[in-house]
Amino acid sequence: MQSTPKDIIEIQTIKDAQNAVTKAKRTQTPITTIGSSHSHSLLVQNSTGIIITTEQMKGSITINESNMTATIPAGMKLHEVSELLWNKGYALSNQGDVDVQSIAGLIGTGVHGTGLKHPIISSYVQDATLVLNTGDIIKAADNSEILEATRLNLGALGIVMDVTLSVVPTFFLKEKTWKQDVDTVIAEIGKLAKENEHFEFFWNPANDKAYIKTLNPHDGPSTQSDEPVQGYVDYSHRVFPSQRNDKHTEMEYSVPYEDGVSCFLDIRDLILAGKHDILWPVEFRTVDQDTGWISPTKGRKTVTISIHQGIDQLYEPFFREAEMIFRSYRGRPHWGKCNYLTSDDFASMYGVGWRSFWKVQRSLDPDGVFLNSYLRGLRDLQ
Ligand SMILES: Cc1cc2nc3c(=O)[nH]c(=O)nc-3n(C[C@H](O)[C@H](O)[C@H](O)COP(=O)(O)OP(=O)(O)OC[C@H]3O[C@@H](n4cnc5c(N)ncnc54)[C@H](O)[C@@H]3O)c2cc1C
Repeated sequence: MQSTPKDIIEIQTIKDAQNAVTKAKRTQTPITTIGSSHSHSLLVQNSTGIIITTEQMKGSITINESNMTATIPAGMKLHEVSELLWNKGYALSNQGDVDVQSIAGLIGTGVHGTGLKHPIISSYVQDATLVLNTGDIIKAADNSEILEATRLNLGALGIVMDVTLSVVPTFFLKEKTWKQDVDTVIAEIGKLAKENEHFEFFWNPANDKAYIKTLNPHDGPSTQSDEPVQGYVDYSHRVFPSQRNDKHTEMEYSVPYEDGVSCFLDIRDLILAGKHDILWPVEFRTVDQDTGWISPTKGRKTVTISIHQGIDQLYEPFFREAEMIFRSYRGRPHWGKCNYLTSDDFASMYGVGWRSFWKVQRSLDPDGVFLNSYLRGLRDLQ
C-alpha cells in the first residue's frame, strides 16, 4: 500500500511519539503508525495526515522467566525478534509464512501461521505500552478491556511502543514439502491437519496440483537434505518463514473449519471457470479459535483461504466475486488484506465485540487522532 501523507515522522522514543501526537493535534491531522507497511489493506493508507514510521524503535528484549513472556520494542521486525529470542533460549510458538513484519504490525492485524492448535499471534499478547492522543503513557494490562482491544488494535488506539508476548523454550522443526494431486490432498485433509503440528498447502491453478508443507517439532540438531520430501530440520524461526519476493495483492478469509474444503472447492471452481485469468496460487491453512473481539478466528476452529493476484494485474472483479463465496460460508476477512466490507457488515459479523472495540477506541481517542479515513468510516458509520 502506498500513500502520500502531509508529513512523515520517524520515531524512536516515547518523547518522539508524544511530540508527533502534539503536532497531529495542533495541525488537526490524523496519525497512521506503520511497521513494515506490509499490509494489503487500507489500514496503512493516509493521504491527509501524518505517517509515523517505527523502523528505529528497536533495542533489547526483556524476558520475564517466571511468566514466560518477552517484552519487545514495537518496531522490531519478526526476524530480528526471533533471532534475539533464540539466543536467550526462547521462541514464539508459531509464526506466519514471512518474518519481515514488525511486532506491532503483527498484532495490529491479527497475523497467524498454520496449525489447528495454534491461534493468531494476538492471543499471546499479555501487555503493551501505548502513547495516547493526550501524550499519556498507559500499560494495556492495567485495564482488561484496553488489553483486549490492544490485542488486535488496527493501529486505532494509540502508538504502540512495546508488546509483551508469551514465549516458549526454543525448539527445532522438521519441514517436509511435496507435490500431489489436489483431490488426493482434499481426501486426506482431516488427517493431514490433525497429524501434523503445522500443515498447509498451496493449490496451483495452472496444473491443478497442490504443494504441501508440514512442520513438526523435532529433537534436532539441524540437518540438510536435497530431497524436500525427506525434509530438513532447523531452528523453528528459520523453518517457519519462506521467501515471498513476487509483489502481489491478497484477500484472505477465515471460514469455520468444517466448511474449509467446500469453500476451497468453490474458489477453485471460480478460478478454473477462467473468467478472471488467475494464475496465482491459493493458500489453505488452519488456525485455532480465540476470544478476540474482532478476531477473524473468534470462537471457531478455522480454515484460512488466501487468494492472490499480481500487483499490476486486475484483481478487484475476482476478489469481489470470491468475497461473495467466502461470505456465504460466514467468512471473516484478514485485517491486513483486501476486503470490500462496510461498517455494517463488520457490526453484524462481530456483534457485541465490534461495539466493545469501538467503545474502548472512543474512550481513548474520542477525536479520532489515530483514525485514517478508512477507520473513521468504520467507526463513525456504525
Ligand atoms: C508476502 C506477505 C506474506 C504475508 N504472510 C502472512 C501470514 O503468513 N500470516 C498473516 O496472518 N498475514 C500475513 N501477511 C499480512 C501482513 O504481514 C500483516 O498484515 C502485518 O500486519 C504486516 O505487519 P507490518 O509490520 O507490515 O504492519 P503494517 O502493515 O505497517 O501495519 C499494520 C497495522 O498495524 C498498525 N501498526 C503498526 N505499527 C504500529 C505501532 N507501533 N503502533 C500502533 N499501530 C501500529 C498499523 O497502523 C496498521 O493498522 C503477509 C503479507 C505479505 C505481503
